[in-house]
Amino acid sequence: MRRVSKDQILDQLRDLGVEKGDTLFVAADLMQVGYFSRSANQTLKDWVEIFHTLLGDEGTIVVPTYSPSFLRFFQKYDFVFTADTPSDSGSLAKAYLKFAPDAIRGKHPINSCTSRGRYSSEIASVDGPKFSKYSPYSKVVELGGKNLMLGIVDERNSPFTFHHVQELLGHTTSHPFSGLLETKYIAEDGQTKRFIQRELGGCTGGVHKAWGYHLSKNAVKFGMVGNSMSALLDAKQSTEILKDVMTNNPHLIKCDDRSCISCYGRYRYNGFGVIGYYCRELPRLIAKFVKKIVG
Ligand SMILES: [Zn+2]
Repeated sequence: MRRVSKDQILDQLRDLGVEKGDTLFVAADLMQVGYFSRSANQTLKDWVEIFHTLLGDEGTIVVPTYSPSFLRFFQKYDFVFTADTPSDSGSLAKAYLKFAPDAIRGKHPINSCTSRGRYSSEIASVDGPKFSKYSPYSKVVELGGKNLMLGIVDERNSPFTFHHVQELLGHTTSHPFSGLLETKYIAEDGQTKRFIQRELGGCTGGVHKAWGYHLSKNAVKFGMVGNSMSALLDAKQSTEILKDVMTNNPHLIKCDDRSCISCYGRYRYNGFGVIGYYCRELPRLIAKFVKKIVG
């Protein structure tokens, strides 16, 4: 692996199309990118600085800072979400929670986003227990934002626009696991309350099959950033493309794992194939559920 410098990252992200003033939703695997400074904390501080240099004071960065969720009725847990609880969304989440004191963390108990810059208050205003977890995504699209997939161009991850489109088309409340997960949070009246996860987009493992549609409309640019492949998308264009795919050809986005309930256990993606799916997979699903409860 070649040593990656900060200047190289700045140049490569500019080449990819990140510009001053952008509203940029960033999902990242920083380990894949491979930039390391003299300490772990300095590396995270550098990433905050890199994006501030790229976007300037007029730009806005939005980073998922999600929190743990738990199986309703069965799992015991002490976790209570507040603005200060850690995120399990990786290093970039940690960077913005720890080293960007002027960033605003949304109040959604499971799927908060943290944003910094011009539109951060506006984005945080639709991020909370009263909103769908995908509302900040919709806001980024409305603001004409871009999606940077930093080091996560692979066969597992998708642009955030996929879940945004699932929400637009009413797919997020019909996932078989909708309503099964929860966490606790402190409500406005100071009471600790339960929050139940109703919206669930699910598996993103087949969405890479829609890259061709993006490429033919010039809606995405791919390029190396550090040691790994990244992508920058126009969120509005990507929304239109995926809306079209998922309306007219929804089975395209199924992943290759035929035991996946999200792709093969939902009528809208697998049609009458769901009958065969549940005949085949029900014993395994029950065993998995029991193991989760007991274990
Ligand atoms: Zn799947």
